[in-house]
Amino acid sequence: MSNDPLPSQIDVRKLTVKGAEISSNFSPAVMPRLTSLLANDEGLVTAELQFYIDEGRKRRIDGKINAHVNVVCQRCLDAVAIDVVSEFNLAIVWTDDQAKQLPKTLDPLIVGEELTDLAEIVEEELILSLPIVSYHELDSCKQVTRSFGEAEAAPVKEEPKDNPFKVLEQLRSDK
Ligand SMILES: [Zn+2]
Repeated sequence: MSNDPLPSQIDVRKLTVKGAEISSNFSPAVMPRLTSLLANDEGLVTAELQFYIDEGRKRRIDGKINAHVNVVCQRCLDAVAIDVVSEFNLAIVWTDDQAKQLPKTLDPLIVGEELTDLAEIVEEELILSLPIVSYHELDSCKQVTRSFGEAEAAPVKEEPKDNPFKVLEQLRSDK
């Protein structure tokens, strides 16, 4: 596994012919669109990409990404470390029409004459895989400890719990 950033200008079609494999460890700091959604740019992203031509003669890129990053806890607004795992299966196509003909299991990567930025593909996948909201575990979240302390100081009356049997009774009487 290399520690170099993913190639940003590469001919992915050539890579599929060669059956190339690229795997790399890098800092989230190299992905500004991703880090704009994170609490900071610390952590590590591991990406493994496989390029090949499948039995249906489709040019494919299969990817696995594992990212250890810090996002903002939506309860205490402090950084919380999370692991994001993403797998994707791309088929290289030339036109929108070709993209529409792909089976549902494959996502299109429309490639024209220009070279492809692999880091951008991985960044995009990571952004899509980020959880919408993240929280610390209950015992390590500042907000929970704080409100727990307040609750102790001023005890809150316990809400009466719904009796599950009541619901059953109602169901029975409806018959
Ligand atoms: Zn928290």
